Amino acid sequence: MISNALIHFYESLVDRLTPVQIDPNFEEYATKIRAVWEARAILRDLRSRAGIATCSGQVDCVEVPTHHCIRGEHPTCLQHADFCYLCLPQRLADAMSAKAD
Ligand SMILES: [Zn+2]
Ligand SMILES: [Zn+2]
Repeated sequence: MISNALIHFYESLVDRLTPVQIDPNFEEYATKIRAVWEARAILRDLRSRAGIATCSGQVDCVEVPTHHCIRGEHPTCLQHADFCYLCLPQRLADAMSAKAD
């Protein structure tokens, strides 16, 4: 179950981040990087839609998850076991606990 707070956090992050303008001198390089990133993102999306677990430690990781995140709630690969983008980011968690006090 994905919380609304987590969705709102990433929505506001996307709003705050300005899209990067590609320097024409690096356009070919940027296009290659994007192609690699997109293929990995599409593979992850397809696996997710097919109900196959994906690593929640890095958004383009295609390793088979064999571990869980530090809270033990989400699948990660060994390399990304210490970070999880599905667990509430610390700043948001801090803000929420401050509100609850
Ligand atoms: Zn991973
Ligand atoms: Zn997690």
